[in-house]
Amino acid sequence: MSTSIELRKVVKRFGAVEVIKGIDLDIAPGEFTVFVGPSGCGKSTLLRMIAGLENITSGDLLVAGDRMNDVHASKRGIAMVFQSYALYPHMTVYKNLAFGLETAGYKRAEIDRRVRAAAETLQITDYLERRPKALSGGQRQRVAIGRSIVRDPNIFLFDEPLSNLDAELRVQMRVEIAKLHERLGNTMIYVTHDQVEAMTMADRIVVLKAGEVMQVGSPLDLYNRPANQFVAGFIGSPK
Ligand code: ADP
Ligand code: MG
Repeated sequence: MSTSIELRKVVKRFGAVEVIKGIDLDIAPGEFTVFVGPSGCGKSTLLRMIAGLENITSGDLLVAGDRMNDVHASKRGIAMVFQSYALYPHMTVYKNLAFGLETAGYKRAEIDRRVRAAAETLQITDYLERRPKALSGGQRQRVAIGRSIVRDPNIFLFDEPLSNLDAELRVQMRVEIAKLHERLGNTMIYVTHDQVEAMTMADRIVVLKAGEVMQVGSPLDLYNRPANQFVAGFIGSPK
């Protein structure tokens, strides 16, 4: 299932410091949106507010039209994949995938069905009985994504999930995530400071600078018609 996300004048302050400065944004159901911008511009904070891991100081967050500001993270139908994909080292891949479902009280047969379906999707079925230390970086990252898939979320949020991987693997995983999006059709937001990643993966790119949206558009729009010097410089268009 896929779901719309709307931000209405969303502000985030840490103490006196305003790090998100009134952002308006509409994300359509099933869209693959990339938030891109330099380090410290507020990408993670924005994602954490959408996920419910951080309070919104003012403004509104709507998911499928419902106001989410005060809804607990676990009730939002949103899964987040982080850069540091900390797997449980003493558990097999199967257990790593099953663990969240066990604590959420799912029945054994349902857990097994979901774990095997996710493993199939991510092509890690052969590794289910291995422990994380017997996996490559890419395989571990797939298990980390698998832990989100088993929850069957409406929305996937990725916060620089590939930045710990080497260049070759990063390219491979971009393709994998794009395929995942094709297969599942969920609304996905992908955060990166890497322009190439943004340009190659996005349906729509949101360029952020110091807590404000500089431009929203397709990769081609941004490249051909950058709204300002910052976007032009950041995207690398010839302007
Ligand atoms: P990005 O993910 O784009 O690198 P962040 O969202 O992590 O940026 O951070 C945006 C700004 O908010 C930065 O200036 C950062 O120092 C600040 N910030 C983030 N989290 C906190 C926090 N918990 N307390 C105070 N300042 C924070
Ligand atoms: Mg960040």
